[in-house]
This record gives sequence, C-alpha cells and structure tokens, in this order.
Amino acid sequence: VPRILLVHPWIEDFAAYDLWARPLGLLTLGAWLEQAGAEVRLLDCLAREWWGGTPRRFGTGKYAAVPVEPPPVLADVPRPYRRYGAPGAAVGEFLDGLPPPDYILITCLMTYWYPGAFAAARLLRRRYPRAVIILGGIYAFLCPEHARSAGLFDHILPDKDPDALARRLGAIVGLPLTASPGRPAYHLYGTPLRHAAWLTGTGCPYRCDYCATPLMYPRLVRKQPAELVDELHEITAVTGAPDIAFYDDALLADSGAHFQPFLEGWLARGRPVRFHLPNAVHARWLTPELCRLMRRAGFTTIRLGLESLAPDLRSRSGFKVSAEEMARGAAALREAGFSTAELGAYILFGAPEQTLAQTLADLEFAHGLGLQVSLAAWSPIPGTPDFDRNLTAWPRLADEPLLHNNTLTIVRRAEEYQLARRRMLALNRKLLG
Ligand code: SF4
Repeated sequence: VPRILLVHPWIEDFAAYDLWARPLGLLTLGAWLEQAGAEVRLLDCLAREWWGGTPRRFGTGKYAAVPVEPPPVLADVPRPYRRYGAPGAAVGEFLDGLPPPDYILITCLMTYWYPGAFAAARLLRRRYPRAVIILGGIYAFLCPEHARSAGLFDHILPDKDPDALARRLGAIVGLPLTASPGRPAYHLYGTPLRHAAWLTGTGCPYRCDYCATPLMYPRLVRKQPAELVDELHEITAVTGAPDIAFYDDALLADSGAHFQPFLEGWLARGRPVRFHLPNAVHARWLTPELCRLMRRAGFTTIRLGLESLAPDLRSRSGFKVSAEEMARGAAALREAGFSTAELGAYILFGAPEQTLAQTLADLEFAHGLGLQVSLAAWSPIPGTPDFDRNLTAWPRLADEPLLHNNTLTIVRRAEEYQLARRRMLALNRKLLG
C-alpha cells in the first residue's frame, strides 16, 4: 500500500490571514487516493487548530508568523516579509510521529507563494530522500515551467480537469484513481475544526480580463443539489465546524436548478451553521426569494463582487454587474433581514488603466447602497488578458511569479492606495457607527 503525505505548505508573503482557508483540492485528492487504497496523511502548515494563532470572528484568525528574509527581487519593498503557519521545529516533531511516506504531494495556491512550497519540498527531500515529491495546485497549473525549473519536484500536476488529474496522479502512484465522488477528506485533520470550506461546483460563465477561473475551469460544472446536502452533512459531522465558507466562483448562476434546491434541501434536514461567501457572489442573481432562503439558512458574511462600474472595466468583466443590479441585489438582501455588518462589496484597486477617481466613485456607490467596502488590489495572473497587457511594460512578469504579488500593486501606487484606503475606512466607520 503506497503511503502518501499531503502537504499544505507555509505562506511566505507580506501579509496573510486565515479567511476560512482550507486546501480543498489537496483534500479532494486525498479522498481519491484513499478510495484507491492508499494510506494517506496530512501535514497542513496553516491549520491554526494545530499550530495556534490569534482567533478572530467566525472561525477566521491570524496565523502564527516569523520574519524571514524576502527573496532578492522583493528586497526593496518597504514591508516586513514573513513566513506564516507552523513553527519549523513543530513540523519536525509532527513528522517524527508519521511513518516515512513513499509519495509527497505538495500544493501551492498563489503563484507568488512558491517560496513556501519550495521550503517544504527542501525540508521533506532532506528527510525522505527516496520519496517521490509531486507538486499540484494553482501555481503548478499557471506556472508549470517555473515549477519544473526549480528541480525540487519529481512531478508537476498541471491539470485542473478532474479526470485528467486522476489519470496523471494515478499513473505516478500506481493506483487506479477515479475523480468521483470526490468529497474532501476532512477526517485527515483528526481534530475538530474551527471552519471548513467547500465547493458546490467549479467554473464561471464570465470571462473577466483579470481572472484565472476561466483558464482553470472553462465550463460551469456543478454537483447535484441532493448530493450537495449529503456532502455538507458529512463535512459538518466530520469537522464539527460551526463556520462554513463557499469557495465557488459563480455560486448563484442558474440558482433555480442549483443553489436554491440545495438550500431548500439543507433547510429541511441540515444542522445550524454559519455560512460565509468570501469569494463574492453576483448581485444580478440575488432574487428576493433566494435572499430569504439564505437568511434562514444562516448566511452571515455576504460579499458582492462590484469590482468597478467604470465603463472600460465593466467591458473587461463582461458587464457582469450594473449599478441597477447592485442596487436591486443589496435591497433584496436587506429586505430579507441581513444587517449592515453582514453585507459588503469588493472594489477593485490598481487594475491597468484604472484611475483613483474611478475607485473612489465605486467606493461611494457601494457605500450608498449600505454595503461595507473592501479594496481588492489587482494582481497580474499569467494567461489572463490583463497579464498580457502588462508584459510589454514589465517583461519580468513572465519569468518571476513573485512579481504577481498584489502587494506590489499597492506599493507601486502607494499614494493612491492610501487615499482609497482612508476613504474606505471612513465610509465603513460611518456605516457601522
Ligand atoms: S465573474 Fe468573478 S469568477 Fe467569473 S470570471 Fe469574473 S472575476 Fe472570475
């Protein structure tokens, strides 16, 4: 029986916060591997239940962190760079308690988080020289050549299509993997969790110029509502988590056939939990009936993707939202009983050609609808039209993923960001009193 160690590595960055973060893809692969007969263990360097940190509201919180030297290309950024997550010595002790793995599967989410994945690969290579080390995750999908050139991994998994991924991983570990039913293997934590995350489907009908979702998941694929109710039952029973985050990118698309029947099913036989929408939902699909169901089901953090109402940016995001749709969506949420503390909107900052005046106008608009506002700093994602637009001015983006970090957008446009941020804080103070 192959022994497999799943690894969710540290984050090395200027900032990181546990906003219901779970390595959902890795946990799903864990489930496939177990079903095929492998012995699977998990090392999650970001599980605050294991390593501590500072708890905040609704299961979120601050990671434990230590300062580390930034990579040379980021040395001039006037911000502290840190390693977030498990203390190194504690990881060593944790590994002492495990049988040596035959295969090690490391994930890496953001392209600019590769230093944490590389640090994990180096540590595990020293410790288990004979183990086969495999890299997956969004970084492996978006930057496979960069990952390969590091020479730290025996295999890179650049697939996002579940069947292709199962075939490739199955061939590496010598097991007949199948991609279904694919419920995340939360039991591998072996401890109650403060929060859990899950997906009802993948993909999005829009093609925004700054987003990687259409590259990773070209089609909208969803699970059946009845299957979702069962899956969520299992996740809440296994984790005991009182807070559940949806990772979907287009949760409300075609909601009459998907989200609404799921909610009705969950209300009929679910348990009381708080639901959170950190990825934002599309205002245009919020109907009064849906909002009422969401209220009854325990939704607590609702974020709407506004990004920007500037005409140019709206055209670069497929006109996914209009002022009227935002107003209608916000009104439906309020009528359903949601409070100001529960509602917010994301406003894009620093996209190519986006001006400060546009960002300020977007902040005022969302505030006028009674929504808290959060700035989301733009970052260049390989393969997207916005990334290509920047390559001529900034050719190093092509070979250095550390330059994709959205903190660089904030630092490059520091004065504008400070103004926008001050306005954002002032508006939120006004709303929340
Ligand atoms: S609507 Fe959201 S998830 Fe869909 S492509 Fe645009 S940014 Fe990405």
